Amino acid sequence: MTPIDLHCHSTISDGMKAPREVVRMAHARGCQLFALTDHDDTRGLADAEDEARQLGMPFINGVEISVSWGKHTLHIVGLGFDRNNPELLAGLESVRAGRWQRAERMAAELEKKAKISGVLEGARKYAENPEMISRAHFARYLVEIGRCKNMKAVFNQYLVRGKPGYVDHEWARLHDAIGWIRGAGGVAVLAHPARYELGNETLRVLLIEFKRMGGEAIEVLSGCHNIGETARFGRIAKEYGYLASAGTDYHATGEGAREPGLNGDLPMDCEPVWTRWMPHG
Ligand code: AMP
Ligand code: MN
Ligand code: MN
Ligand code: MN
Repeated sequence: MTPIDLHCHSTISDGMKAPREVVRMAHARGCQLFALTDHDDTRGLADAEDEARQLGMPFINGVEISVSWGKHTLHIVGLGFDRNNPELLAGLESVRAGRWQRAERMAAELEKKAKISGVLEGARKYAENPEMISRAHFARYLVEIGRCKNMKAVFNQYLVRGKPGYVDHEWARLHDAIGWIRGAGGVAVLAHPARYELGNETLRVLLIEFKRMGGEAIEVLSGCHNIGETARFGRIAKEYGYLASAGTDYHATGEGAREPGLNGDLPMDCEPVWTRWMPHG
């Protein structure tokens, strides 16, 4: 097994550890190629890269862009881009811009429909980057005040479509997100495809469209995928001609199954996306 982690979060978005600390954790697990992929923001990359360089761990730039595709929200991971590219930076800024308004609407809905007050202030405490307030910050606060016993329960009861704290939001367009990543010399990867719960036909349309628009890889190994899903998306990657990516989607210790740095083996016959960054990969 080659330890590779191309999907991780820090305090620049909704992770709980600073970029340098996430890098140290991945290195401690023997990670041989690492990308920090905060939501809609690249401001952790300079620190992460510097820390990785000091430790001698290969590092590439990453980001996870929030996208609206029809009524679905998708996450597109960008890898190996130039982090100073002005169009990419402007695009990400435009995606972040709507987050506060959305958070205010979420708080208002939670107050009205679930009689929970003070959520915005509570969630704000968890958002170290004021431009990046996320549902994860709301969830941590609702656990803190004892509304639910864990994050998963908060999402299921309050924060997913149809629940009191969910509001619709327009993220980036798929075509634009892919364009920003590729324009900056990076590779566009469909993150955790099993998470979207798309029907077979919708998934087929997405995989064809994503490819046509310039998407090159899908996450096959993900902290969000179980063994069956990994096998399924391994077959799908082959069928549609996608490279396979791998990432833990680490946010905080205790919140998910995986710690930074560690991924299992890709299913047989999958072509890894990372060979271009790893001469011996
Ligand atoms: P947002 O971008 O503000 O909509 O927040 C999305 C984030 O919420 C994801 O990146 C995850 O960190 C977290 N999240 C989404 N769904 C769940 C879930 N079911 N359980 C735990 N965390 C979740
Ligand atoms: Mn997240
Ligand atoms: Mn995601
Ligand atoms: Mn993620």
